[in-house]
Amino acid sequence: MKSKLVIGNWKMNQSFEEAESLATAIQDEIAEIHLQTEVVICPPFPYLELITDLADEANFYAGAQNCSQFNNGAYTGEVSAEMLVSLGVEFCIVGHSERRKYFGETNAIIAEKVNRLMEHELIPVVCCGEQLEDRKAGNHFKVVETQIQESLFHLSKEEIEHVVIAYEPVWAIGTGETATPAQAEEMHRFIRTLIEKKYGTEIAFNTYIIYGGSCNAKNAMDLFSQENVDGGLIGGASLKAADFVQIIEAAETAVCEN
Ligand code: PEP
Repeated sequence: MKSKLVIGNWKMNQSFEEAESLATAIQDEIAEIHLQTEVVICPPFPYLELITDLADEANFYAGAQNCSQFNNGAYTGEVSAEMLVSLGVEFCIVGHSERRKYFGETNAIIAEKVNRLMEHELIPVVCCGEQLEDRKAGNHFKVVETQIQESLFHLSKEEIEHVVIAYEPVWAIGTGETATPAQAEEMHRFIRTLIEKKYGTEIAFNTYIIYGGSCNAKNAMDLFSQENVDGGLIGGASLKAADFVQIIEAAETAVCEN
């Protein structure tokens, strides 16, 4: 049974001091656990160095929440994959629904971001997920399939092996409404089958497909116990050390029980 992956997405929250005490509290608490679970913390860009410095001694990795689709150059306000690597960052979320909604990110832009991350040996955490209208209309599988095909299926077998997929139904992000474990499992299984058809069984099995959308200390265990749910992308609940650590503990327990 492969270990689980739990990623905290702090979004645009926290002062520097708050970020420092949150990261230190998580570090202290997970130092007590013999972790099999891989833990990644994705703070806002200005705090990345804080996390990469701690990550050297702590049981977690540093991740960014976004990167530019361009290499270094005249792109005011952007942060490149090359810059992230130079800081010691190892993961980067791309295609989050908030980036799609507020910053016009399309599947084509996300594919370019994935390419930049691949070129710099960073692990992309590629988000996909349907709107509520899509689910109500029964189009949720088609929407997710198109997102995955257009943002990832240009990759070779060697490249796709380094990608994490986060299924995040948009109607569940920050709303307190979570997909049921059965709904999550159904979509994760569907995504794994898509990967299997394109890249084969071994790669499909090894690919991390994690769930995001109001995952919290109470529901994490039920979600992570599903066969095809390899962990979680956690927004709101990653801003409280105690809650985030309980989610990590749920991941540990789910691996043992699976
Ligand atoms: C997210 O930001 O990816 C997310 C899943 O947020 P939340 O856990 O707050 O729903």
